Amino acid sequence: MSFNVAIDGPAGAGKSTIARAVAKRMNLIYVDTGAMYRAMALFMLREGVDLKDAQAVAEKCKEADISIGYEGGEQVVYLNGENVNSYLRTQEVGNAASITSAQPSVRRKLVEMQQKLAAQRDCIMDGRDIGTCVLPGAQVKIYLTASSGVRAKRRYEELLEKGQDCDLDTIRREIEERDYRDMNREASPLRQADDAVQVDTSDMTVEEVITRIMDICQERRR
Ligand code: C5P
Repeated sequence: MSFNVAIDGPAGAGKSTIARAVAKRMNLIYVDTGAMYRAMALFMLREGVDLKDAQAVAEKCKEADISIGYEGGEQVVYLNGENVNSYLRTQEVGNAASITSAQPSVRRKLVEMQQKLAAQRDCIMDGRDIGTCVLPGAQVKIYLTASSGVRAKRRYEELLEKGQDCDLDTIRREIEERDYRDMNREASPLRQADDAVQVDTSDMTVEEVITRIMDICQERRR
């Protein structure tokens, strides 16, 4: 039986940074499910689909073949055979993903893929519904959170570092809107699983969070 770690939480809580580091140190593969939803949103944007048109999104999603692979230890997302990693981490695609991910047809397709992956490999998977829906039997469940102000500042610095033009107030507003959509949608809303451990990273360093999660994982793995 594979060893699965589920990490959920709102945008900017530090999930991917932490999951990537813990994966490396514990020899697990890192599965970034947000990137799969982003690839699906990218497809819809490229195809000019009206994101709010549930029927159109459900129809179009049948044409998107999304898969993941690993190159040099990093997850690569393929959209109809094309490596789309470099297009995924923009505010536009993130906001679009939070709209299209509310469609049950999109979720069904991606959740099935995530479950197959986790059954085959020891992994740490991050997202919004991993502990509650995708891997309800995961050996470790973490709910990573932080105040919206701290999360907005982190996203702002990440985007600046990449040379993307951005504004802190706009990012904070978009993060709060995204939280609202993710937490209030009908299909698999973001919420803490009953058996998840909550870690608030607002006042923690990255290293402190990694140590805390590793301690929890090692205890469960024993
Ligand atoms: O984590 P990330 O910001 O890359 O996720 C982008 C969007 O994808 C989220 O705002 C959320 O709406 C959606 N998502 C989801 N379920 C997941 C992962 C991401 O609905 N497991």
